[in-house]
Amino acid sequence: MTSSPDSPARYTRVLGRHSTGRPGPTIVVTGGVHGNEPAGCEAMLRVLRRLARDALPLRGELWGLAGNLRALAVNRRYLDRDLNRRWIREDIARIVANGPEAAIEDSEQLELLGILAPLLDQAREAIVFFDLHSTSGPAAPFSCMADVLRNRKIARALPIPVVLGLEEVIDGSLLGYLCDLGHIGVAVEGGQHTDPRTIDSHESAVWLMLVAAGALDPQHLPDLGERRAQLAGLVDAGIPAIAEIRHRHVVRPEREPFVMLPGFANFQPIRRGQIVAHDQRGPVHAPIGGFMMLPRYQGQGDDGYFIAGAVSPFALQVSAALRRLHLDRVVPLLPGIRRDPERPDQFIADPRVARSHVVDVFHLFGYRHVRSQGEQLVFSRRVPGGPLQRRPELATMAARAGGRS
Ligand SMILES: [Zn+2]
Repeated sequence: MTSSPDSPARYTRVLGRHSTGRPGPTIVVTGGVHGNEPAGCEAMLRVLRRLARDALPLRGELWGLAGNLRALAVNRRYLDRDLNRRWIREDIARIVANGPEAAIEDSEQLELLGILAPLLDQAREAIVFFDLHSTSGPAAPFSCMADVLRNRKIARALPIPVVLGLEEVIDGSLLGYLCDLGHIGVAVEGGQHTDPRTIDSHESAVWLMLVAAGALDPQHLPDLGERRAQLAGLVDAGIPAIAEIRHRHVVRPEREPFVMLPGFANFQPIRRGQIVAHDQRGPVHAPIGGFMMLPRYQGQGDDGYFIAGAVSPFALQVSAALRRLHLDRVVPLLPGIRRDPERPDQFIADPRVARSHVVDVFHLFGYRHVRSQGEQLVFSRRVPGGPLQRRPELATMAARAGGRS
């Protein structure tokens, strides 16, 4: 465990909570889950100030939370481990039962759970989670979400590209966990960490989200059009409206130092075989063509870079229609696909039988690739809607939080 920094906290855990008592959605906005990304916290403070100052008739309740307080205090992505990983049921159950383990971030996670668990435990409808991030490289804003239908309404209300599938290649993200409980989760990458426009972009995204979620009406916000234009103005022509992650370059410790070639921006087209970085073994070549995403221009984290590909809006519409018709239930009837005997929510695809486009077909039906098992691919269904999942460790946390207050 690294020693706890003595720097005074820049933010309080609860940046603010706003409610006027009108019924409506519960919305939780997080900023600074990575400690070198304070722009989301600043944007939420602005939103909360304006809600109070203009006495806007918000429906439901809005929470603004700061993510990694101890890392925010020293402007580092994290201290011991990335707080946007290990939102995994078994790990959460363990630290709830036994307390923090080796990392300072265990305490951060428990403190966040102390606020989230009562909300999750009492929720009757899906909570809207909105997670604000920024990037080390120069970047136009974009959103990320798991491709479940309930997320689309929020993400598509923002005039910025949507990137699907990041949560499939990153294990244990905060939003992936909340989404698997049946809630709504959209992340916004607002721009470069230190670019002042990033705070503006986050603020614009939050106002547009509040309207899309039904918490405010457009007439409450005379500047909504300007907000939309501010975001849209940062998105270059030629960037696809919808893209999906097709490759993640993992930086293994023994391959450090990993150094990206300078000058890559998000959504910059790259060719297959192009040299994009150097590591301990030499040049790193892009294994597929597509769009560069999240190139690592800071020293921390094992995500080197990602490659995305464009998704046609038509394919997205087809998949929405298929899921509404519940044709997804035919998936286990397809050749080469069988149900996992031990985990009934998972399916195993034999790529030798289910030859072409196995992953594409599963995506279309709302399943995601969770692991490989030898030659076989294992897919699990995202919680498509319906009842929210309850977890005993969250009930435990909620009871503890109730006992405190
Ligand atoms: Zn981040």
